[in-house]
Amino acid sequence: MLNALKGKRILVTGVTGQVGGALVKVLSGHCELLSAARSGADIELDLGNSAQIISTMTALKPDIVINAAAYTQVDKAEDEPEIARAINATAPAIFAEQCQRLGSTLIHYSTDYVFSGQGDKPLLEKDPVSPINVYGKTKLEGEQAIQAIGCHHLIFRTCWVYDAEGKNFLNTMLQLARSRPVLQVVNDQFGTPTSAQFIAQITSTVLEQCFSTTPLHTQNRNRVYHLTGLGYTSWFEFAQNIISTAKQYEELATTEIVAVNSDAFPTKAKRPAWSVLSTDKIVQNFNVNLSSWKDLLNQCLQFKYR
Ligand code: NDP
Repeated sequence: MLNALKGKRILVTGVTGQVGGALVKVLSGHCELLSAARSGADIELDLGNSAQIISTMTALKPDIVINAAAYTQVDKAEDEPEIARAINATAPAIFAEQCQRLGSTLIHYSTDYVFSGQGDKPLLEKDPVSPINVYGKTKLEGEQAIQAIGCHHLIFRTCWVYDAEGKNFLNTMLQLARSRPVLQVVNDQFGTPTSAQFIAQITSTVLEQCFSTTPLHTQNRNRVYHLTGLGYTSWFEFAQNIISTAKQYEELATTEIVAVNSDAFPTKAKRPAWSVLSTDKIVQNFNVNLSSWKDLLNQCLQFKYR
């Protein structure tokens, strides 16, 4: 139940994306939902257009903005840093200024890519950041701008996002597995696969707690929280689980998955090797039940093949 959100005007950006789309499903019917995207949504909003963000905020005066839009093409960002910066850093800063002016709350998503990928222990929110690619740098600039402006905000850093639909690792593996007997998958990068549905659910639960009458959680605003499933894995093990579970639902050609190093698939942008985020802080500060990444995968595939 999301009683505290009843009547709240919630502007969600990026509703054509994984997390934005999941937020629409979770929030529909529980608030006055204002869905925005570059095109194909009730509200047309290009995050590269600062004046449009300001005029949209002025016209709509949302109580809450959930910014799920981002420039997420990690390799392409290396070639278009200014465009990535406009969407990932400038736009969140403008949302933050507008939220500050209107007294609104900004919910923003960031990434494990703010870290360099060194280490072998789950990363805490307070651990030093040091992004190694343009995407990570621009996302970090977005976080820092929101914090510096100081509107009411929550920043959720998440990791390895997938959804039942759309272009993501899960669907790429399934597509390949329909035709290829052998797949090669990277086994030297570690993180926590996290479904968009789960991110949307936990976001709405946290929002409900922030806006409920109990003052308990108000002091927990204006912070960064790590929001992922529990546990961690490699892309290789994630692929193994995707394919073995999907085989319960459809016939797949793949019979062998071979573990390889990242060198086997050179990419324009460097990827952090260790992307495992500690979720202790969100669990301590909010009444949320996190699920293991395997449970999230099973739920997502169950939904996909429903
Ligand atoms: P998606 O790539 O699925 O969606 C991105 C959304 O942003 C799309 O709706 C896209 O719209 C929109 N967008 C891009 N550029 C603009 C623009 N100029 N104006 C308006 N909208 C724009 O992203 P996710 O849902 O996966 O990501 C949600 C959040 O999670 C982001 O902040 C991301 O950085 C973060 N994150 C994602 C991870 C991942 O693995 N995907 C990992 C860690 C963090 P359009 O359809 O028009 O392109």
